[in-house]
Amino acid sequence: MSDKIITVTSPLLPPLEEFIPYLEDIWQRKWITNNGHYHQELEKALCDYLGVKYISLFTNGTLPLITALQALRITGEVITTPYSFVATTHAIWWNDIRPVFADVDPETGNLDPDRIEAAITPRTTAIMPVHVYGTPCDTERIQAIADKYGLKVIYDAAHAFGVQQNGVSILQAGDMSTLSFHATKTYNTVEGGALICHDAETKKRIDYLKNFGFAGETEVVAPGINSKMDEVRAAYGLLELRYVDRAIDQRHAVAERYREALSDVEGITLLKEIPGVRYNYSYFPIFVDATRYGETRDALYERMKAHGVWGRRYFYPLISSFSTYRGLPSAGTDNLPVATRMADSVICLPLHHDLSEEDVERVLRIVRHPKR
Ligand SMILES: *Cc1c(COP(=O)(O)O)cnc(C)c1O
Repeated sequence: MSDKIITVTSPLLPPLEEFIPYLEDIWQRKWITNNGHYHQELEKALCDYLGVKYISLFTNGTLPLITALQALRITGEVITTPYSFVATTHAIWWNDIRPVFADVDPETGNLDPDRIEAAITPRTTAIMPVHVYGTPCDTERIQAIADKYGLKVIYDAAHAFGVQQNGVSILQAGDMSTLSFHATKTYNTVEGGALICHDAETKKRIDYLKNFGFAGETEVVAPGINSKMDEVRAAYGLLELRYVDRAIDQRHAVAERYREALSDVEGITLLKEIPGVRYNYSYFPIFVDATRYGETRDALYERMKAHGVWGRRYFYPLISSFSTYRGLPSAGTDNLPVATRMADSVICLPLHHDLSEEDVERVLRIVRHPKR
């Protein structure tokens, strides 16, 4: 048994020596935040890279969710998924909006459009789906429902950096999309995030909202927040952008090997791959059927850990089962059978740019051979 611990992810750090000149330049400019040179450069570079027209940078991936709901003046009820990171629902709650949980599709883990439609009430004003693990939601059907009932759609695309469907960025879907550039994500700025919209007027409003609502030196047009990205992290983000494609290729190779080696393991299910999607390979979830696999999910998780392989049970427990939310009428497991089953059976395997072939084979030796 090797002592080296294999973690579920590892931050993609650009070479330090290449970062120093950026820092020297920032020190010379003496303009270290508030829409500085590198902030503007990174917004441009990300629009190009991602294939979107308007992006606003944020200090993390949670504030763009909160701000999107503010920018679109969402109230009442928002339909969302319980199968995500808690920030998705928290953003709704922080705006004093009632989250309404709908169940997910077992093949993708994303909101099931039929269940969205069934959850609509006269108070519904928006849908907040998540492209969970970077798998695109059924954006066409979600848009059709939104159009039919006059709802806004805000995608939490925290996992979907660079994901495309049929050559088009997934960030084009809906009214707005948010990204997270947290250290654990495929592309990071240490902490950071962004809000994508589709017209200049809306971007202007977002930029006011993330800077206290200032529309000029003496004019405040909305009760805004402070969520500006500083120059140090914007410069880091520019440099990171040069390395992210290679990292995605490295992740792809690991994901391919996992898929090939695990597709015939009794009791292990993988997510469906959708044709025409350019994935970013941000996560590799497996779903354990204890009866067929011969070992429970938690037993496998602990056995991996004992061998120095730290998977993560993303996304368990379901958001709807946390104390803040479990009293909501939509939070019951009878309303969310698919999400409940996925949360109770999932383990995300280690997946990042820095895994060696030997690391990957070590993970596979454990997972391919259940302890019966
Ligand atoms: C990471 C994540 C967020 C929050 O991003 P932070 O940058 O950590 O604030 C939101 N939603 C989902 C689905 C995430 O995975």
